[in-house]
Amino acid sequence: MPFSKLGLSQPITDAIHELGYDKPTTIQSKAIPAILKGEDLLAAAQTGTGKTASFVLPILEKLAQGETQRKKRIRALILTPTRELAEQVEQKVRDYSKHLNLTSLAMYGGVDEQPQKQALIEGVDILVATPGRLLDMYGKRAVYFEEVEMLVLDEADRMLDMGFIEDINKILDRLPTDIQHLLFSATLSNKVRDLAKTAVHDPFEISIAANQASKKNIEQWLITVDKDKKSALLSHLIKENDWNQALIFIETKHGAAKLAQQLEKRGIEAEAFHSGRSQAIRQRLLEDFKAGKIKYMIATGVGARGIDIEGLERVINYDLPFPADEYVHRIGRTGRADAQGEAISFVSKDNFKNLCMIESRLGHLIERREVEGFEPRKPVPISILNYVPKHKRQQKEG
Ligand code: AMP
Repeated sequence: MPFSKLGLSQPITDAIHELGYDKPTTIQSKAIPAILKGEDLLAAAQTGTGKTASFVLPILEKLAQGETQRKKRIRALILTPTRELAEQVEQKVRDYSKHLNLTSLAMYGGVDEQPQKQALIEGVDILVATPGRLLDMYGKRAVYFEEVEMLVLDEADRMLDMGFIEDINKILDRLPTDIQHLLFSATLSNKVRDLAKTAVHDPFEISIAANQASKKNIEQWLITVDKDKKSALLSHLIKENDWNQALIFIETKHGAAKLAQQLEKRGIEAEAFHSGRSQAIRQRLLEDFKAGKIKYMIATGVGARGIDIEGLERVINYDLPFPADEYVHRIGRTGRADAQGEAISFVSKDNFKNLCMIESRLGHLIERREVEGFEPRKPVPISILNYVPKHKRQQKEG
């Protein structure tokens, strides 16, 4: 089905065709008509499915038909967990609205608030914000909510994981009640469902099924390797395969810095990307990585939240993520939309339980490969697919 059949008008369909989108993704064909009809929405879709366009496009369509805002007023509010995601979503708003006369702004903490205040003075149509900074600005009367028509909670599960529940509730309390509410989350955990009870009313539900969590265009495999050999294995793979680019996930900031040094000693240039580096540096790294100037970026899970790189070929789980949903998020960073991607995980024996949880979540085993010269001394057992962690077993029994 073409985009025009979804009820989007020409300035919008022109912009998306210019970006090279031929047809809507699954979430887009389901969400766009529902949002245009005015439904509240509860959508389970991870990053990489085209979810951003699935809410941005109908928002643009609706706002383009309405009136302009007054000073310090906004008409659509998109809440995101991180600055990086706020910037990326707002960039998409700009891309998709290039033939419309709508204004947008990304607003987040950790930077001077003055330019953001200034930008709000004339009012903006679409504000993409992180919850903390938004509340600050609201408290300082830099922004008013009475003209808000639509609210999006993007990556709601991450916002909850990051402890934003109180801020979100405060924002919900201050928004007009008769607006359209849209909630997007990679996973619909109980916490997210609780939030949905207050944030969306009688919602239209969309779920991009769990087995689509392992999207078909992502080749996933794992390499069993002893823990102390992981850094040498990574260098070996990089040299052997002459990869274009890889986003490498590691557990700690310290680990990221150390691994970057180890790679450098072996003649491989890599950058560490984590919350310990300044916002300006992270922004530059992200731009350089997107432009292909940096080939290997080593990121902590928290640091890399919301990184969206068009056509990223490969992610590497140098450390296996925890919990299992984080694995799904991470592999979603590659093979975006219809591009091919590869997700490689390094797994040692002490990751066994974690691996069981991930493979249980996926509903299948991940293909295993060994690399010559790096065969583990301590073998990793084959997972139990219906694995339940001990504390949950006890809860069930008790
Ligand atoms: P998202 O799931 O919103 O993070 O989007 C993932 C990526 O897919 C982004 O880089 C978008 O630019 C791209 N994308 C979104 N919708 C489409 C589409 N219909 N066709 C091709 N690419 C798309």
